[in-house]
Amino acid sequence: MTPSEAFSKLDAIQDEPDNCTALYEPNKTMAKTPRIAVVGSANIDLTTFTDVLPKPGETIFGQRFDLGFGGKGANQAVAARLCGADVFMVARVGNDLFGPATIKNFEKFGIDAHHVCQVEGVSSGVAPIFVDPAGQNRILVVKGANDELKPADVDAAADVLKGADCIVLQFEIPMETVYYTVQFARRNGIRCIVNPAPGQPIDAKALSDLDYFVPNESEAETISGMPVRNLDDATKCAQKLLGDGIRRVLITLGKNGSLLAGGEGMHHIPAFSVESVDSTGAGDAFIGSFAVFLGEGFSEREAVRRANLYAALSTTGVGTQKSFYDRKRFDLEWASRTKS
Ligand code: ADP
Repeated sequence: MTPSEAFSKLDAIQDEPDNCTALYEPNKTMAKTPRIAVVGSANIDLTTFTDVLPKPGETIFGQRFDLGFGGKGANQAVAARLCGADVFMVARVGNDLFGPATIKNFEKFGIDAHHVCQVEGVSSGVAPIFVDPAGQNRILVVKGANDELKPADVDAAADVLKGADCIVLQFEIPMETVYYTVQFARRNGIRCIVNPAPGQPIDAKALSDLDYFVPNESEAETISGMPVRNLDDATKCAQKLLGDGIRRVLITLGKNGSLLAGGEGMHHIPAFSVESVDSTGAGDAFIGSFAVFLGEGFSEREAVRRANLYAALSTTGVGTQKSFYDRKRFDLEWASRTKS
């Protein structure tokens, strides 16, 4: 693909009919508009669908190509914004054609991207994805500029972060930045949600000040070193993480819902039943929406219930950001599923 072809593909994506139209209308059902800051990653997903994978030294034709905006931080920011929050993104993108396109995508959703800066001489974060006819993915993530998001960048965005009701973090940026931001949040009395994805070893002490630690089953398994294949396993794993000093653990369990664990006990909150076609990005939908529901003042169990539905609905469409519901559609679904 030539650069000009790539640009027109990016423009086409930005001009697609999008799912954020209802967003700009004030939502009458919301008590307060939460302010959510995401300190995290932005990637471009480069997905190639192919019948076979090339052998070393071989060049072959693929079937189809799709370019999409991704990265766990960006996805969670978009979910929070679609749920109606004011969202502020702190991120780094590369000095390449994906950098400005990523910033434009944030702006298209109405996300404040003043602290999304381009880094000279580094690529944007990219995820080349190869999908075979069986639907099996092979994914290579190149962190690129995401690896350049440093504690100094958090300080540079301090004014914006201090005005937030909640700071949301993931593990696609340097761990020193994650730890630094958790402490920043604590010092300033700001709620902090950490999504430890992708799963990797943690310094539990450096995370003891966070409010919610939200892994999925495989991340919980990687971090705790314990198998997490069912609710019973998840309960034991959550107990271990609490014992390690993490204040509150919220393990997402796919179609089995979520497990909320803290000093006051454990609660399994079941999932909503949906016709699921693609669960990619369900965790991001869950976290972005959970931050918003908490910010609106719902109790944590009520916020988890609602996030369960928001995430479940995201699995009824293909893709990540493209499959997220806006607040109007979510509220209609919520009302129809919870009316007595
Ligand atoms: P991840 O996308 O990080 O792997 P999960 O698969 O645990 O995360 O999904 C996050 C949340 O999305 C779950 O806690 C659940 O509420 C919802 N969810 C995921 N898959 C389904 C499904 N098939 N049916 C209903 N809800 C689902």
